[in-house]
Amino acid sequence: RIIYVNGRYLPYHDAKVHVEDRGFQLADAVYEVIEVSDNSLVDATRHLTRLWRSLSELSISPPMSEPALCHVMGQTIRRNRVRNGLVYLQVSRGESPRDFLFPDPPVPPTLVCLARATIPAQVDQRAETGIHIITMPETRWKRCDIKTVMLLPACLAKQQAHAQSASEAWFVDAEGLITEGASSNAWIVDRSGRLLTRPLDNTILPGITRRTVMDTAASLGLVVEESPFTVAEALDAAEAFITSATNTVMPVIMIDGQRISSGTPGPLCRQLRRSFARVAEHSPVG
Ligand code: PMP
Repeated sequence: RIIYVNGRYLPYHDAKVHVEDRGFQLADAVYEVIEVSDNSLVDATRHLTRLWRSLSELSISPPMSEPALCHVMGQTIRRNRVRNGLVYLQVSRGESPRDFLFPDPPVPPTLVCLARATIPAQVDQRAETGIHIITMPETRWKRCDIKTVMLLPACLAKQQAHAQSASEAWFVDAEGLITEGASSNAWIVDRSGRLLTRPLDNTILPGITRRTVMDTAASLGLVVEESPFTVAEALDAAEAFITSATNTVMPVIMIDGQRISSGTPGPLCRQLRRSFARVAEHSPVG
């Protein structure tokens, strides 16, 4: 089999994308699948229109013109001798050192096209009897507790934060409660000096730093309450901060353009940041 990768038609085993491709690392990519039936593309116009829309929604520039892409699909289908089957297209934002923010200047998008034969939908025997299905709760994607590489929403949030001269975005749920940051856990210190952070459930990542900061707080005799807080409570807080492995404890002084308290890093946050290294495990490398 032959697969198209970034301008080249490669043997199956050579068809590779770099590990720092944003599709691989961040799910920062879009795709289409088009049916090939009796040597024709089915609904190609609509599929390509949707692909162009998906690209535009993510501000990924089309890797080539529509006619050029049709040529690539045609070549891929012909070179694989597919009469009935499917053609798969994937476009990622391209290859760049891992960062939530879009590469600036942009890098060329990655384009992959493959085609393979399948049983034609018209002769699928299952259509005689019909199929079974099951139902399940809509969980796409409500499992933020798993550290997956499905980071496209995080990339979009960070990019928007960056556009507004901010370093992080805090997500707010349907009840108006803050869940967590795009790549960090969210904390506030209320006016009575209690540390608040959202309790663990499917809506947040169980941050390792969050856990260690809880231990750090305990060692300092600070009160931690795992309870959710609203945007209004955050704006009214004495202090706010984020935690993550690469930031440890990072003070937040402004939310949505509004200063938190005096607009300077708060004393408890600074104390936690100073004491973190004393509490966190340090083990020799290797
Ligand atoms: N939430 C999200 C969504 C994250 O991506 C991260 C960082 N990986 C965190 C929280 C913080 O987790 P940790 O302290 O383990 O780095």
